[in-house]
Amino acid sequence: MVNSTPVQTEILPVEEPETLAEITALHQRIAELEQMIAHLMIERRRAEDALHRMNAELEQRVQERTLELARANKALQAEIYQRQEKEQEWRESEHRLQTLFDKVDDFLFVFDVDGHILHSNPVVWRRLGYVPEALQNMHMLNIYPPDQQHEALDAIVAMISGQSAVCTIPLQTSDGTLIPVQTRVTHGNWDNRDVFFSISRDISDLKQAQEALEQANQQLKHSVDELTQRNHDITLLNEMGDKIHFCESLDDAYTIVEHIVAQLFPNQSGALYMSLSRGEMSLVARWGPHPPGQRVVTPHHCPVVQGHHLHLINDPQSAQRCHLCPIDRSISAGAVPYACVPLVAHGETMGVLHLRNGPHLPQSVRDLWEHLAVTTARKLALELSNLHLRERLRNQAVRDPLTGLFNRRYLDETLKRELQRAHRHAHPVGVIMLDIDHFKQFNDTYGHDGGDTLLRALGSALQTQTRGEDIVCRYGGEEFTLILPGATLEQTYRRAEQLLTLIRNLQVQHDGHPLRSITASLGVAIFPEHGATDEAVVKAADCALYLAKTRGRDQIVVAGLME
Ligand code: GH3
Ligand code: MG
Ligand code: MG
Repeated sequence: MVNSTPVQTEILPVEEPETLAEITALHQRIAELEQMIAHLMIERRRAEDALHRMNAELEQRVQERTLELARANKALQAEIYQRQEKEQEWRESEHRLQTLFDKVDDFLFVFDVDGHILHSNPVVWRRLGYVPEALQNMHMLNIYPPDQQHEALDAIVAMISGQSAVCTIPLQTSDGTLIPVQTRVTHGNWDNRDVFFSISRDISDLKQAQEALEQANQQLKHSVDELTQRNHDITLLNEMGDKIHFCESLDDAYTIVEHIVAQLFPNQSGALYMSLSRGEMSLVARWGPHPPGQRVVTPHHCPVVQGHHLHLINDPQSAQRCHLCPIDRSISAGAVPYACVPLVAHGETMGVLHLRNGPHLPQSVRDLWEHLAVTTARKLALELSNLHLRERLRNQAVRDPLTGLFNRRYLDETLKRELQRAHRHAHPVGVIMLDIDHFKQFNDTYGHDGGDTLLRALGSALQTQTRGEDIVCRYGGEEFTLILPGATLEQTYRRAEQLLTLIRNLQVQHDGHPLRSITASLGVAIFPEHGATDEAVVKAADCALYLAKTRGRDQIVVAGLME
């Protein structure tokens, strides 16, 4: 550092030295001055050095500062450039967004957290029929149908919270038209505000395609259902045919008809009337909750029997209703439509299938119902007439035409079977042989016709005396056989006694005149006691009968007691 102490340099008035002392003093004084000057010079140099140093330092600091400033300036410029770039980018993105808003076909809304619409796109204005100003600040829910706004609110909340992705509540135009849309709502930021974006896409085409597809599906399902039902019906009809085919009697067949027709026409009522000989029709089967109760119907005036075609009543007030038919009279308006379908075989109406449907059926279903009714009647006619024919043929083969009783052929076949069964179950079988006494004389008195009348009357009297499992046969001529499965000797004998009395008391008219009473002789035998085979037991009974004849007739002889 430069010493800044000021050098005291007092310039004294110089006078001419007069003395040596004065000269010496002067010299001294000069030396002092010189010394002082030298000192000052040193001081000055020091000060100059310090000044130089300071200058240099200052310069360096200025340089450093300048450098710093240059750097800062560069950074600032870079930042400004960056900002400009960002601004440009933002402007471009804003432009793109606006273009997107303007160009897309979707309905776009920006709405605030209170649900007020802040922004919407031209599609909204154009298609929903609002001017932009009207939408400004309108509540978002007001673009939904009033009755679905609550639901729309729930859907929007669910989408915002991420619970669901889309909702399909339609938008409503200003004139109330609904536009089917699929909407997505997301959370976002708009002009530094928390907002929600709603994007709704028109799905009218998709919906139409879906509806068309659904309709096609429905039709397909309907066709499949119909086919399945038809298949089911055909299976049932075939099952009915097969079962009737293996029936032994028409009565068995009627039970099958009841069971299967009830399944073909579920929850409906109906009945089958049959007339196997010309004349009245009898109720043979009925089914459903309200079947007709009439047991017999006379077919006069019946359009079905006369015309051989289906008679369908669709209208409870119809003039076509058969007012003479008791079945029609029993039908309430609620049971209409009903149909009577003829069972036609070999050109004859052998029966009528009566079906009660009930209202509320579409026309297409009624057509199917009618078709099924006709098909069922055809199948029934075919199967029942076949069975009837078989029954008649069988009867002809096993029945005696005069008395209607089983014939000897039937007896031979059946007795064998009965004895086998009795043997298996260790049961007895009673056999009664019966022969009218002096029938030749009877014939001589009344003629062959009178004899026939008596045989017929005896046949039905024997028939009424027998139980279900008993078999009554005309063995031949004026001889009859009774087979009593399970009957002991005692029971068989009691039956023989009853028959003896019955024959004694039999009163028969012929040509308006009473025929005289008759008697008969009876032989009784028991399987296996009196014979181990059919032939043996019949022979045993026959021998007992012969003995009854020889003992004076009009009596019973038991095989074991012959001696
Ligand atoms: P018996 O007391 O010994 O049995 O004497 P019977 O006269 O009854 O016995 P017989 O065997 O001598 O005669 C049987 C008669 O039955 C002869 C026959 O004309 C008669 N007869 C057999 N079949 C029929 C028929 O189908 N109709 C009529 N009317 N008579 C018949
Ligand atoms: Mg005889
Ligand atoms: Mg006789």
